[in-house]
Amino acid sequence: MVKLSQTDYEKMVAHAESELPDEACGLIAGRIDGDDKIIEKVYLLTNIDHSNEHFSLDPKEQLAAVKDMRANGLKPLGNWHSHPESPSRPSEEDKRLAYDSSASYLILSLMDRENPVLNSFHIEGDVSEKEEFYVG
Ligand SMILES: [Zn+2]
Repeated sequence: MVKLSQTDYEKMVAHAESELPDEACGLIAGRIDGDDKIIEKVYLLTNIDHSNEHFSLDPKEQLAAVKDMRANGLKPLGNWHSHPESPSRPSEEDKRLAYDSSASYLILSLMDRENPVLNSFHIEGDVSEKEEFYVG
């Protein structure tokens, strides 16, 4: 199961809303405990594509985030991005760009602004699977 704290969830939603109409993106880090991936830190990065259909993480910010993870003893667990106008599931492009099958890919849909939907996916090749996911 992938676990995210309510505080980090709210931080992610607030950032995604502030980046509208563009997709927002970032990294997740934490620890692995048996079958659980516990997210302990969410990084909010700049989408250098400034697009509502795709994203690219700012490479400098990405490097700084990875350094921060090392300094804090956190393991990189994957990334997250928002879908401003589409459901919470990987697009064809998302699958193509998901090169790490050990990572979790979190997708936050803001399609229904009142009810954001966040899911975590395991992606291998062109097959994506929803992971067990817990916020709280
Ligand atoms: Zn996407």
